[in-house]
Parts: sequence; C-alpha cells; structure tokens
Amino acid sequence: MIYDCIIIGAGPAGIVAAIQLKRSGRNVILFEKEKVGGLLRNANLIENYVGVGSGMIGNDLIEVFKKQLEEQNICVVKEEVIDIKKEDVFEIKTNQNVYKSKTVIVATGTIPKKLDLPEIDDLEKNEKAFYEIEDLIEVSDIKKVIVIGGGDAGFDYSLNLKNRGFEPEIVTRGEFSCLPLLLERAEKLGISMHKNQEIKEVKLDDKNVVVITSEAEFEYDAALIAIGRDPCLPFEIENQEGLYIVGDAKGGKYRQVHISTGDALKTAMEVDKYLS
Ligand SMILES: Cc1cc2nc3c(=O)[nH]c(=O)nc-3n(C[C@H](O)[C@H](O)[C@H](O)COP(=O)(O)OP(=O)(O)OC[C@H]3O[C@@H](n4cnc5c(N)ncnc54)[C@H](O)[C@@H]3O)c2cc1C
Repeated sequence: MIYDCIIIGAGPAGIVAAIQLKRSGRNVILFEKEKVGGLLRNANLIENYVGVGSGMIGNDLIEVFKKQLEEQNICVVKEEVIDIKKEDVFEIKTNQNVYKSKTVIVATGTIPKKLDLPEIDDLEKNEKAFYEIEDLIEVSDIKKVIVIGGGDAGFDYSLNLKNRGFEPEIVTRGEFSCLPLLLERAEKLGISMHKNQEIKEVKLDDKNVVVITSEAEFEYDAALIAIGRDPCLPFEIENQEGLYIVGDAKGGKYRQVHISTGDALKTAMEVDKYLS
C-alpha cells in the first residue's frame, strides 16, 4: 500500500497535519515513538492556546487532541522512524517495518540541550538528572529539586513541581528571562530563586546531587535541566520534493503550540495541493 502522506511525530504539529489531510480525503498514517502529545506532556498550564479558557494542563489538552484523533479514525502507530529514502515514492523505515508514501511530513519536535559538565551523564544514568518533568515525577524518593534554567520552561517546571508537592529551587547563570507572570507566580508560591550563578560543577555525593555555582553550593535529591532545546531530526533528511519539516523541528526562534500547529496546517494544505 502507498500512503498519500506519512507524518512523523504525534505532537501538536503532527496531529494537526493528520487531521487536516484526513479532512481532505487523504490516507495518512501518523508515527509516534513515545507518547501522543509530544512536548506538551511537560507543560504545566497552557494559557495562550485559543479554546483553553482560563488555562489547561498540557496533559488535559492532549486528551482533547486524542479524542479528536479517535473521532476522525486517525491511527497513531507506535513506531520510531529511523530512516527515509526516496525511490519512486518515499520509503519510511521504522524500528519494525518499511512503509511507502507519496509525501512525508516530519514533525519530530526538539531535543533538550545538554548541560555540558563532566559528571552529567553519570547523574542521568542514576536517575538524578532529568530534562523532562514527566521522567522525574515517575521516580520515587525525590523531593528537593534544583531546576537549572531561568526561562519559561524552567519556571513552568518549577510551578508544576511545587503544585505536585516537590520543593523546587531555580538556579540560572544570567537574569531570569521568563514571562513576568511566571516569575510573580513563583514568588507567590515561595519558590527560591538564584540568578547570575554560573554552574561550575554538578556531582553525585552519596545519594544527593551537589551543585556548585560561582556563588554557592547546593544539595538536592535531583536536578531538572531546562537550558533550551534544539531541533530533533533523528535521521538524515535530504531536501526533496514531497518532504516537509513542520513545527518545532524547523528550528524557528519561537516555539509555541499555535506556531507549530499553524505551520502544520498550512503545510498539510500544501501537501494536499501537491498530491492533486
Ligand atoms: C515546560 C514547557 C511548557 C510549555 N508551555 C507552553 C505554553 O504554555 N504554550 C504553548 O503554546 N507552548 C508551550 N510549550 C511549547 C509546546 O509544547 C511546543 O511548542 C509544542 O509541543 C511543539 O509541537 P511539535 O508537534 O512541533 O513538537 P513536539 O511537541 O516536540 O512533538 C514531536 C513528537 O515527535 C516524536 N518523534 C520524534 N522523533 C520521532 C521519530 N523518529 N519517530 C516517531 N516519532 C518521533 C516525539 O516523541 C514527539 O512526540 C511548552 C513547552 C515546555 C517544555
């Protein structure tokens, strides 16, 4: 079977592309290597997406998306795409199968920037350093968390942790660069915050994470790192007709749900025109 379009990544962008192409009568397949919803699974409160009223927890918004996928009979295949080739049509190799398609939409999002310090890999292996809140909250015995990064994501993580009964503390090397309302909320909840502190060393001492900054030394149960993200293009992608990159994977300056879904919608319409 040859699909009209194969979409890689079931984050907001991939979901919107699939819904739009299905509406256009195209046969599509949507691949997801982890869980439906993508990065949105990490979001504490989405307030800037139309339709969420006074705000919605990322995971609750994902449930709405999932329902829509189900209602429109769009199947999400839990396979990881590992290679794309083009002969007459595209051949998409996953960890389980090979599929054929006339077009491909790559909506693979981003990966976190790693903290470039010697012991960080060790901490990750020992489940003491995390880049996604979803992974951290699944581990027991964690209470005190150092959140490294003073942008929107670092603050969103800290508010989320605080609401879940953790004790987060924010450390960043420069000024806080988050939205003022996030800073205000963190202050109101009594979250400790430290700015202008370059992280010099992070190490495991017995069961604790020790963070040494230019100003002080802190000890925590775990570290949650939010120092930015890079586009995730997990396989070699040649620029060729019929292949499109959408959403956060594009590496744009601004990464928000409306931006990635708007981009995906427009691209899906272009794909439909191309197929016609
Ligand atoms: C803490 C936090 C808070 C946020 N708060 C907000 C907010 O309030 N408002 C807002 O608008 N945005 C917010 N965002 C940003 C928003 O989550 C992203 O902009 C949005 O999720 C991007 O959608 P996307 O579909 O482009 O990528 P992603 O959501 O990253 O989805 C990409 C998907 O592709 C999958 N994938 C990757 N590689 C493969 C492969 N090889 N095979 C199969 N599947 C693959 C991934 O598993 C993932 O599910 C927040 C982000 C974070 C981290």
